[in-house]
Amino acid sequence: MQASSQQQATLLEVQHHDTTLLQLSHRRANLPQISQGLDLEAKLGSLQLKLVAIKTEISDICLAQAKADNDVQQVVQRAERDQQRLDSGAVSSPKDLEALAHEIQSLRKRQVELEDVELEIMEQLEQARTAQLEIEAQVAETITELEQVTKSRDDEFADIDALIDAETSARTQLASTLDSELLALYDKVRVDLGGVGAALLHRGACQGCHISLDATEVDRIRHLPAETVVRCEECRRILVRTSESGL
Ligand SMILES: [Zn+2]
Repeated sequence: MQASSQQQATLLEVQHHDTTLLQLSHRRANLPQISQGLDLEAKLGSLQLKLVAIKTEISDICLAQAKADNDVQQVVQRAERDQQRLDSGAVSSPKDLEALAHEIQSLRKRQVELEDVELEIMEQLEQARTAQLEIEAQVAETITELEQVTKSRDDEFADIDALIDAETSARTQLASTLDSELLALYDKVRVDLGGVGAALLHRGACQGCHISLDATEVDRIRHLPAETVVRCEECRRILVRTSESGL
């Protein structure tokens, strides 16, 4: 293939834009904010599960509390009724009186026990509510962090996208000045070889694969017409000769 030195030099400039575009898309795909955001979303998910669990626990404790309150109330009411019967004088048999007094005593004892249960439940409720507040604070904090990370990520995306747009249009403009066959060859090699299709021959080495050409090959290239499109023997990339090649 033949191409003027100017065309071959332009190819290196196109390559420069393509390399920059690759770097930009790599940077865009690997922004730390992306993995930070994923971590925060996972954290938020697990906090929200914890919140559901603690709310369920609180509602169970509230049910237990209502039951305990009711138990205490029943015992108190029964003791009051017994006390009224005792005070009313309606019960006269000493045996019945004794039984009634005994029951009142048992009920008072039971009331104390049930009130202890009530207190225990209140403590549990207080602890669970404190835990709920803590989890809610963590949720709010995580949401704020996630918003900040997302915003920072989107700002970076916008910056990188602007650079990609500028590079792409500069690349398109330059590529349009290239012979279509040369460009097609370059694009094919570039896609096949990880993004580098054309490389400078510099001090006897291919800047694409960084392998030094042997002296005979360098000598052969030196004597080729400037318009001949040379390919690296090692990597098959288009080897561009410029004044920097040191030939
Ligand atoms: Zn090479």
